[in-house]
Amino acid sequence: AQSRREAMFIANEWAMNYFEDNLLNTPDGKEIGLSYLYGRGVTQEAIRQFHLGYAIDRGTAMLEAARKKGFNIDVLKKLGLIGTSQQGHDYDRFRGRVIFPILNSSGKVVAFGGRDLKGGIAKYINSPESELYKKSNELYGMYQARSSIVKEDKCYLVEGYLDVIGMWQSGMKNVVASSGTALTDGQIALIHRFTKNVTLIYDGDAAGIKASFRGIDMLLSHYLDVNVLLLPDGDDPDSFARKHTPEEFREYVSKNETDIIKFKAKVLMAEASDNPQRRVEAIRSVIGSLACIPDKVKRDVYIQECSRLMGVSEESIGSATASARATVV
Ligand code: ATP
Ligand code: MN
Ligand code: MN
Ligand code: MN
Repeated sequence: AQSRREAMFIANEWAMNYFEDNLLNTPDGKEIGLSYLYGRGVTQEAIRQFHLGYAIDRGTAMLEAARKKGFNIDVLKKLGLIGTSQQGHDYDRFRGRVIFPILNSSGKVVAFGGRDLKGGIAKYINSPESELYKKSNELYGMYQARSSIVKEDKCYLVEGYLDVIGMWQSGMKNVVASSGTALTDGQIALIHRFTKNVTLIYDGDAAGIKASFRGIDMLLSHYLDVNVLLLPDGDDPDSFARKHTPEEFREYVSKNETDIIKFKAKVLMAEASDNPQRRVEAIRSVIGSLACIPDKVKRDVYIQECSRLMGVSEESIGSATASARATVV
């Protein structure tokens, strides 16, 4: 099993270099892939740092290159680099896409994400799960970010590949992405190895707000201190980075980061307006988050804050949190 994993790592490493070489040194890579990335404001430095690549849009370009190198094609199939048609023909799974290699926290290539450039149906395709890649245990950008996360004692969490790169280019290098999926315990444990301070910067749309609410109870349960930052409506960190200078972006972040529980209480109470039923639902939802805080002192401080923000007595929030907590632990 060890040597099988080793063979898979070697194949992925080769694939990363192959895609990278295609991007930088082939006519298609330069005309299509590189101009796409430059058009989106990605710098040469970021392309190098994140080992971005390009998958040539020919049915079997990678397959042929792999054969020439003597790779066992079954290994590439397990990794999701090569697919097989119903007629039994092998083909490249990534075609005509910009490639984002996904490295684990020790820098080994475990998977790839590929962005469509032609307005096709699937904007992104990703490697399937494999012996090397458990989606729920990886965060995009962790290898590049980990030393900055330790140094800054803080981790920014964003949705997408290009959001990581946009933040990185703006000087916020302590950034990782959940790649559009709901956060998992494994991903949170990974962050916790390096810091206990997390700031969520999700897309400034309804889906982004919902996603930030979904992640918080889990983050709080893991003893993390969680802030959230809302971007202007319609922006994600990548688009915001392109509209502002790095200094402006960093200033926006430092001025607009808010404690997540206070944020949740404010947003939900504003949404509920003066509808009593919806206010009750909002309060219950906030109590559910309060109950996830393991530390008693921290919990009490937040109970006070939320009592003030939601206009409910500290006693009733406190006792409701205590009984909700009894079911959490
Ligand atoms: P872009 O700026 O290139 O449009 P994005 O990162 O802003 O990309 P979103 O739609 O906000 O794209 O999605 C966030 C992340 O979710 C993506 O970076 C990608 O990791 C993942 N994702 C999005 N669409 C898909 C898809 N169709 N299949 C798999 N993953 C996806
Ligand atoms: Mn989105
Ligand atoms: Mn986005
Ligand atoms: Mn985007």
